[in-house]
Amino acid sequence: MRIGASTLLYLEEDIVTAVNGIAGHGLQTIELFCELPQLYPGTVSTEELSRLRTLSTRFGLSYSLHTPCYDLNPASSNPGVRAQTIVQYEQTLELAELLGSRDVVVHCGHKSDLKIRSADALAYSQETLHQVGEKARSLGVRLLVENTGYGTLGFLTRPEDLLEVVAACPADTGLLLDTGHAVLQGFNPTLCARTWLPRLAQIHAHDNLGHRDDHLALGRGVTDWTALLALLSQEQWSGVFMIEVYDADDPVMALQESLAVVNGCGRGWAVGR
Ligand SMILES: [Zn+2]
Repeated sequence: MRIGASTLLYLEEDIVTAVNGIAGHGLQTIELFCELPQLYPGTVSTEELSRLRTLSTRFGLSYSLHTPCYDLNPASSNPGVRAQTIVQYEQTLELAELLGSRDVVVHCGHKSDLKIRSADALAYSQETLHQVGEKARSLGVRLLVENTGYGTLGFLTRPEDLLEVVAACPADTGLLLDTGHAVLQGFNPTLCARTWLPRLAQIHAHDNLGHRDDHLALGRGVTDWTALLALLSQEQWSGVFMIEVYDADDPVMALQESLAVVNGCGRGWAVGR
């Protein structure tokens, strides 16, 4: 597997500073989180694109993109929200094409209201991601569908439900295991990984205490990293282990701590592309 990190780590910074910060740790696989300033799809300037391409060449970087997510929901019962989600997801696909990125991460969504049935939310998600998936296929970009939604608004009742969501997408669509979301969904992240192999293409690695989506450094929460990394090693998994932690006070320490956990459990994982 390859180890990377998300620019979520530097959420308050501009995207170029964020990429530079991660590349400075020797990581070459980087998730560009499209909620950072200057990176909202459809608004990215040619100068910004040029800076990102220059950084990619200089450090030998491989980018994947994470669609905007804060006000979007592919599983919404509101057709207007789903339509806007499709617009911004497709703009992210176009941005990926411009940056030569192969993978774009999308959420599976959540119930927009407690009264919505889980089966209906799942059907809305399928409908939205089917359309986005066709656009991805036409651009030669691969969609990675992430497990999202937890607590009373979650609609994934078991890990297998995510397989149902992607059944509506093109055959090359990958699955993305977000470890923190899995914990909040009441799932065992290692069991999710086992269930989703061989379509599991990427992991968003971060920790929490089982109550909130804190994106803590690995080892600061309840996740059993030894078990998950042992499975990935045993399966000779070749996907991307993307560290997606956030610590406004000390991002460098959060990344270093997380890398130490991976290296402590792993067997000489590659940090490069
Ligand atoms: Zn996400």
